[in-house]
Amino acid sequence: MSDSSDDNHDLRSDQPGEEGLRIRGPIPEELYSFYEERPFKCCTRCGEGLADFAEGYRVSKVYRGEEVIFEYALCLPCLRTMFEESSEESKQALMKFQMERFRFVTGFDECALCDNQRDALPTMEYGLVGICLGEGLAESNLICGECMEAMSECVSEETRKGWDRFVEDNFPGVPADFEPMPIRGPVTMV
Ligand SMILES: [Zn+2]
Ligand SMILES: [Zn+2]
Repeated sequence: MSDSSDDNHDLRSDQPGEEGLRIRGPIPEELYSFYEERPFKCCTRCGEGLADFAEGYRVSKVYRGEEVIFEYALCLPCLRTMFEESSEESKQALMKFQMERFRFVTGFDECALCDNQRDALPTMEYGLVGICLGEGLAESNLICGECMEAMSECVSEETRKGWDRFVEDNFPGVPADFEPMPIRGPVTMV
């Protein structure tokens, strides 16, 4: 009886919060809740306190010029659920799109998926995404309006309807034709 511990390396890789996220600094004000004028405290979908999620959470904000069109924070379990509710086809198309284009940049100066710079964006709309852990920021990216549109074209009608429902339920004032940022963003860990 001497074999068990050497043969089975127990890597405990099921703890992404421990290994996967490194805090780079405080959450920038651009990712604060516009309505609350402070960092998001609760998940937009389930209402749980975000500080309690050791795996972190994702903040997404869509701007038109200086104006915030909508914003939300999702805990990781909700992010996963929403992604899982997307059709298989949509999930694969989105992953492929992002894997092909992701430029491994971080921050809000340039698009993560194409070479558009923030100070010369071709559209008024753009999205900011941050992966946060407690009060810290682990990852952040800007997605330009052209790339947001290209991503929403990747997904099936059914998936898009699910996203529309999420927006309608949470942001009654948002124009119906406006797509939320796709659930599997380049900086998500889902
Ligand atoms: Zn949640
Ligand atoms: Zn882009």
